[in-house]
Amino acid sequence: MRFLSRCIPALVLTPLAACTMNLAQVEGPDANAIPTTWPSQSLVFAARTAEGVFLVDLGWGGADRALRRGLARIGATPEDVTDVFVTHSHRDHITAWPVVRHARFHVMEAEVPLFESEVVHADVPSRAVRAVRGDAGPWPGEVNVRPFSRDTTFVLGTDTIRAFVVPGHTPGSTAYLYRGVLFAGDTISRPYHTGFGPGMGIFTTDRARNHAELVSLFERLRPYQVRWVCTAHGKCARPDERFIRKVLR
Ligand SMILES: [Zn+2]
Repeated sequence: MRFLSRCIPALVLTPLAACTMNLAQVEGPDANAIPTTWPSQSLVFAARTAEGVFLVDLGWGGADRALRRGLARIGATPEDVTDVFVTHSHRDHITAWPVVRHARFHVMEAEVPLFESEVVHADVPSRAVRAVRGDAGPWPGEVNVRPFSRDTTFVLGTDTIRAFVVPGHTPGSTAYLYRGVLFAGDTISRPYHTGFGPGMGIFTTDRARNHAELVSLFERLRPYQVRWVCTAHGKCARPDERFIRKVLR
């Protein structure tokens, strides 16, 4: 009933926009998908490996509490988190960084100046919110950032996390594949009125690049089994032909 409890209160006020989708499918005894920020459901994914606990993304409003609660469900605390994999640095996906500031933050090289607030995101909504709320990320040197510049495989104990660079939504957007689940960040979106598609235009720095990188991504994923694809806003789907056709439209 977790799906319903996440969805019904949102339905009352903003039909469908706030529902998560299939999140329970990517969870397990050692993995938890944690939506934050009603109604945008910015996702934090937490998983335990033999080497510690890692996160994909860091949520937005209320993320501190949601993260602590979500970690507790897999018997972990923020102190157990060793690694954070950042899909991109829009403020709605990085807010809880101070809670795990001791961890290694894996960020694509081109995204680092944006993550560390040295460069401002190009999209209009990001600029507007920054003018009111200021910067959201850490300052340079404040956390241990481990940049990478191309597709990279990270080994955590007996697990692997594969990073696929997919610039376009932001200059350093990255998708991560873990145990058959692809966390695609905002490179893939699901507006409630149109269904799954590419990154939403108004928030996307370079739409043509986003599309080209998605075409390339699905080619690069061929050697791997991908059971689910999840957006950064808590919506997961099977990557069948129809799904891929919609995303590449
Ligand atoms: Zn974004």
